[in-house]
Amino acid sequence: MVSFYPGPSRVYPKVKRYLQDAYRDDILSINHRSDEFIALSTRTVSLLKEKLSVPADYTVYFVSSATESWEIIAQSLIKTQSIHLFNGAFGKKWFEYTNRITGNALAYPFNLQEKLRPLACKSGDLICITQNETSNGTQVSNKLIRKVKEKNPDYILAVDATSSMAGIELDFASADVWFASVQKCFGLPAGLGILMCSPRALKRAQDVNNQQHYNSLLLLDDMMQKFQTPYTPNVLDIYLLMRVMESVKPIDKVSKTIRSRYKKWEVFFDTKSERLNLLARDKAIRSHTVLAVETSAEKTKKIKLAAARAGFVLGNGYGEWKDTTFRIANFPAIQRKEIARLMDFLYSFI
Ligand SMILES: *Cc1c(COP(=O)(O)O)cnc(C)c1O
Repeated sequence: MVSFYPGPSRVYPKVKRYLQDAYRDDILSINHRSDEFIALSTRTVSLLKEKLSVPADYTVYFVSSATESWEIIAQSLIKTQSIHLFNGAFGKKWFEYTNRITGNALAYPFNLQEKLRPLACKSGDLICITQNETSNGTQVSNKLIRKVKEKNPDYILAVDATSSMAGIELDFASADVWFASVQKCFGLPAGLGILMCSPRALKRAQDVNNQQHYNSLLLLDDMMQKFQTPYTPNVLDIYLLMRVMESVKPIDKVSKTIRSRYKKWEVFFDTKSERLNLLARDKAIRSHTVLAVETSAEKTKKIKLAAARAGFVLGNGYGEWKDTTFRIANFPAIQRKEIARLMDFLYSFI
């Protein structure tokens, strides 16, 4: 089976060897306070920054998931109120989780077929944007994120890039907080999240001064000064991340590959297929890493059933598009020949 599910998805084939190496080299039982761990953690952070082009003064933290990052941000970075700009299920969930903690989160949903509008906010002090909305296959461009920042210079800008980080180029300097988890574009097994913060975000954390939780940003930061975590982390996944980051090309190269594969899918759905359409109509808002394909409920069912028999796992539709869409991951770990095979398979349904 090849998983085109947009997370967890196909892992890099090399992960098999890395797992064997991890077992052989006793990575599985190293202590998270040991020098070995500190070396592993230091190297992983440095590779992440190098390969993904993260500004040198940003700090990288190991957390458990993207969902945990929502909670860390809600507890550690909001002084008065958070503002949530979203057009899909993950952005909405982020808003809801935050609202359960703070009780006063503000939601600004926007239409799936329209671009996010970068307005100047009038209240609050933290803006939340889902860069790649995994539920409906749309994305917010680097340019728009920068505009939001420019219109709201006093706000902390937090960006959920869970299903795009390590797949496309992100302009990290344009926002203060970025996070992702490794089961999407990193091509790794689930169980590890990555959170990145600018010096401005850390300054905010000091002002808020939340120290009540094991994952309070101040505590995470305190431990990360020594390349450690407050809790026992997923050392195996950090090791696998290090190995994958050693082997991948720099993000501008990876991004080029993802873009050209995406273009092929776009041509397929826009010009070759009448009955299968990308859910987002405007090319400028389409995600390059997650495709949401719309068709009739009957056809969706048929395709998913036949796909499973042919050895493909497709992503289910999400939320209000549950029955009339399916999703295809365009993540870097998926092999070119696997995409060609899936395209061949889909030809019989166009
Ligand atoms: C998958 C996903 C999440 C949740 O990730 P977890 O690792 O399960 O916490 C959050 N946001 C987006 C945009 C996602 O795609």
